[in-house]
Amino acid sequence: MRPLQYLRPENPEAAVAAMHSAPGGAYLAGGTNLVDHLKLGVATPDLLVDISRLPLGGIEPTTDGGVRIGATVSNTGLAVHPTIRDHYPGLSQALLSGASAQIRNAATVGGNLLQRTRCVYFRDPTTPCNKRDPGSGCAALGGFNRQHAVLGGSDRCVATHPSDMAVAMVALDAVVVVLGATGERRIPIEEFYRLPGDDPQSDTVLDHDDLVVAVELPAPQNAVACYRKVRDRASYAFALVSVAADLTVSAGTVTGCRLAYGGVATRPWRAHRAEEVVLGHAPDDATFAAAADAELVDARPLAGNAFKMPLLRRTTVAVLRDLTARATREERS
Ligand code: SF4
Repeated sequence: MRPLQYLRPENPEAAVAAMHSAPGGAYLAGGTNLVDHLKLGVATPDLLVDISRLPLGGIEPTTDGGVRIGATVSNTGLAVHPTIRDHYPGLSQALLSGASAQIRNAATVGGNLLQRTRCVYFRDPTTPCNKRDPGSGCAALGGFNRQHAVLGGSDRCVATHPSDMAVAMVALDAVVVVLGATGERRIPIEEFYRLPGDDPQSDTVLDHDDLVVAVELPAPQNAVACYRKVRDRASYAFALVSVAADLTVSAGTVTGCRLAYGGVATRPWRAHRAEEVVLGHAPDDATFAAAADAELVDARPLAGNAFKMPLLRRTTVAVLRDLTARATREERS
């Protein structure tokens, strides 16, 4: 039996103060990831700071036409919110594809951002894993790596980030609002996630006591958008490949394109190179395939996951082709 203290702070500042003085502590919200890790022995905190009842559950418009989403909003609550469904449909689709209704009802926005990889070795404390146990090695590099990353990996870790929601938020240029010991700061979501490099134990740039309090989305663009997830089975599973995209087409030319990839990279992956290939060109399959190829130039497939490269290429083409058809219809109507 491992002793474990539990604290329910009255406000976010008290939560941060408690975590600041507890180097072995962990924040607890929906618990859909952390409680698994407690049972598996992957996480061994000595203090749980329960933030689930803090006043961080709102979805509010911002003065610049965007929306601020509290960190403890449930995944279901966000997916079905009228503003999200109407103006950020790719985000709603990503959330609905992410997990069963039971898990979505408990899981929070902040927790979704911070969920850990589903690499099977990370979740098995009997195996070497640099992310869980720094310096112990990486069992996936020479082991079962079908689910692992082709982009953003290192010789220390090639685990994919599992969140669908975060991929959609990366495509939307979301900003993560964080409360730390020195106050609040705002971090563009692309800068929020870090690559594994030589020290894969940290997935984000957060300090130990930092508390995610909200995510802000900029004003919606006049674009068609979607999130498509390819997985091993039709029911809930983590992405082999996913694509979040929005597209604007005017007079036969792509005038706006935002693309992000999931399931293929060590962090939710903004596909800047692919966007550059598409922008200003005719929206056809050849351009879309060239865009995916440009993004994959630095890909490093492993023994078990090279199939993700043609799969990502085909999914990119299919998504952008469908969005082009929708955008063209809307332009005509
Ligand atoms: Fe651990 Fe990363 Fe290697 Fe998986 S890929 S075993 S998470 S170090």
